Amino acid sequence: MGSNYEPENHGYINQGDHKGNVYFGLRDAPPQNHPNAIKCFQCPEYTWRKTADCVHCGADIQNYLECQKVRLEIYSANHQMNRLGCAILVTVALIGLSIWFNILWLTVVSVIAGAIFCGAVSKLEGHKNNLREKLYQLS
Ligand SMILES: [Zn+2]
Repeated sequence: MGSNYEPENHGYINQGDHKGNVYFGLRDAPPQNHPNAIKCFQCPEYTWRKTADCVHCGADIQNYLECQKVRLEIYSANHQMNRLGCAILVTVALIGLSIWFNILWLTVVSVIAGAIFCGAVSKLEGHKNNLREKLYQLS
């Protein structure tokens, strides 16, 4: 049915901008206690975790889960950056104290530690920007 380049729609009449295959077989919702049952973010009934769209409203479940995953990664990157920020404050205090008390080795160690922490922060910043870009493309 149709040319090779047309998706198989199984009698579905496309009234929106849906692209790709539409399949109406085996569209039963899972029981609520099923390990792969998740609440749809849109309708919100129970649907399958690994199925592309919600069996009730057709919302894009995979895109939603992917966005959620990226948001969680951004959250965790923020958390790590906060902790690194605290570590940098401590090293700055240590640098000050070691200079004040004239403890050269401590100055050297704190400066090296501070440089490592700053490097980690800028690396995380880059990672976070990539994640933000990914989230922007997904949603
Ligand atoms: Zn739904």
